[in-house]
Amino acid sequence: MTISPLLHQVHSYVDGDWHETPGIDFSDVRNPATGELLCRVPQLSDDAVGLAIESAARALQQPTSAEQRTIWLQGIADLMDRQKSELGRIITLEHGKPLAEAIVEVEYAASFFRYYAGVVERLEPRVLSSTPRHHRWTLHSRPAGVAALITPWNFPLAMAAKKLSAAMAADCSCLCKPSSKTPLTMIAFFSLLHALKLPPGKANLLLGSSAEISALFCKHPAVRVISFTGSTAVGQELMGQAATHLKRLSLELGGNAPFIVFDDASIDSAVAALMQNKFRASGQTCVCTNRVYVHRQIAVDFTEELTRRVSQLKMGNGLNRGVQIGPLINKDALDKVEAIFDDAIRLGARILTGGPLKSDGGPKSPGHFFPPTVLDDVTPQMRCVKEETFGPLIPILEFETEAEVLHEANRTEYGLAAYLFTHDQDRAERMFRQLTFGHVGWNTGMGPTAEAPFGGFKQSGFGREGGEEGLHEYLEIQTVPTPVPMPEQQLVQN
Ligand code: NAP
Repeated sequence: MTISPLLHQVHSYVDGDWHETPGIDFSDVRNPATGELLCRVPQLSDDAVGLAIESAARALQQPTSAEQRTIWLQGIADLMDRQKSELGRIITLEHGKPLAEAIVEVEYAASFFRYYAGVVERLEPRVLSSTPRHHRWTLHSRPAGVAALITPWNFPLAMAAKKLSAAMAADCSCLCKPSSKTPLTMIAFFSLLHALKLPPGKANLLLGSSAEISALFCKHPAVRVISFTGSTAVGQELMGQAATHLKRLSLELGGNAPFIVFDDASIDSAVAALMQNKFRASGQTCVCTNRVYVHRQIAVDFTEELTRRVSQLKMGNGLNRGVQIGPLINKDALDKVEAIFDDAIRLGARILTGGPLKSDGGPKSPGHFFPPTVLDDVTPQMRCVKEETFGPLIPILEFETEAEVLHEANRTEYGLAAYLFTHDQDRAERMFRQLTFGHVGWNTGMGPTAEAPFGGFKQSGFGREGGEEGLHEYLEIQTVPTPVPMPEQQLVQN
């Protein structure tokens, strides 16, 4: 059964066409809200992965003009805009997030193609304004090579779009490897890309075992860039594997975002920002708040208002009207959130709203739902503070001094996102300087945007996505000095 007009076939895309060789292995894609089997996706064989890499390497030998790349990038953004409802529906089916949120993901993904379409022209060769050492110096931006783009399931489209848009702008050829939990969105995306008739090998879609395909990327000398978004554990593994060929790595890894509210902040706007920031993708985003620190003076009012709003959230199948929060991606994710919740309760946390769905002996829901939850009486020893929960659970901790909250906020191996609420500019500036996070929202829960670089400190990885800095991940700078004629008098002196 075809579940979407964009999914007439569900194959990998290799060398400019669908790779329809029958697969031996398949992976099942299920709707996390209902447990329904959506599709069985054939896995690419190792040989076919090799063909895709070689095709990408051939495509790299045919440079394309900046004008052409601009047209492609703009064209992709336009196609995504036209199909945003259908792409959004596919995201909801396989990921579970509410449809309105899924459509926002499509718009966000398209914004990266549009942004990089506007940046390509800045890659013209640059000549230094001076002539040091009696030479004229020209700096060329060259594509870094075949780029392998490995992405997670929490934003099935946007995570790939961030990488692919920048890599295409740099004129790399690309190997996209989406998560096997959510491959359908990228298959649908490639059915749009197919219409643009890119040169064969310019963009490939590889479906199959992530560990096996990534190992092949790491081993193949033609792959020069590996851009990975996912957990820190897998990032570390890839770094080891990529060492042999000294591949260039860009790693966007896990987070443990603190949300800090000082006593001079507006409680209403801090709570509103937290509601927007925390529950996207049911709390399964790398930038979503993991732990909340509230100044003791305002803790009671803040917690009451937050609890009131969280208890009103409507959870369910993301395709149903009015649903604001969907399921978790699978049983493993649900088990992890339940274990982190149990740990907190065992160590003395108090449930203000939410908690796991009770098993009342009736038929168990086939979906992987964990209700939005607020806990207080939380301590720094609890797993919900120390680990990335990746679920709709908010632990609240109180603090008294700036030094104390700064110490607690930085007490993590991660350094991706943090949020700070205060109207005291001096304090805010002191805090930014010392918070070891790549992204610090000040009086906002805003996440990344196409126009600005985004990435982590510490074990949240390295490299940037978005902004001109995002392009540098896919470029090599080639320097060409050439002598300038010296005035005759100087020649004599030299
Ligand atoms: P994950 O297990 O590391 O998976 C991420 C991707 O890597 C998926 O495509 C996965 O494929 C693949 N993968 C799994 N095992 C692999 C292996 N041994 N070698 C190579 N690839 C492998 O992470 P996840 O649980 O899906 O995603 C959640 C994590 O991603 C969280 O920690 C989150 O913070 C992080 N994240 C970070 C950012 C950022 O911008 N920094 C953005 C989003 C998410 P399969 O799914 O097919 O196994």
